[in-house]
Amino acid sequence: MLDILDTIRIRAHHLLCMQGFQGYGYSRSFIDNMTQVVKDINSNPDLGVEIIAECDIICSHCPYNKEGVCERMPNSAQKVREMDIHVLRKLGLKEGTKGRVKDILGLVNTKLKNSSDIQDICGDCEWKEKCLWFISRNV
Ligand code: SF4
Repeated sequence: MLDILDTIRIRAHHLLCMQGFQGYGYSRSFIDNMTQVVKDINSNPDLGVEIIAECDIICSHCPYNKEGVCERMPNSAQKVREMDIHVLRKLGLKEGTKGRVKDILGLVNTKLKNSSDIQDICGDCEWKEKCLWFISRNV
């Protein structure tokens, strides 16, 4: 359980995933952890967030996280980092930016509205059909 004084580190593309999460994931532990993170964020809008482009609090319970490196697929670490950098560029933010979660998510949802932006970021994601955030922007 996180409180208002905590700052959590979130990789940039997870700012999108968290908003579309419906309880799917890579393992029971991953799902339980992500459920808790989403719950903490929703109940603490003033929670501090640092936006990063490496393994984060969600990756921390992922079976593909090998000592802080994403090994989901060959080149995953690089590909996922590029995805994070892509999101940061679209948001006009730098890696390491800190802010309140409500402001950061507000920025995400203001800047990333049109379907071409969303397809550009999430088009190759295996979870997009199960992601409420993706679905809501591609109707
Ligand atoms: S697949 Fe990679 S980027 Fe996604 S949660 Fe797991 S370790 Fe993190």
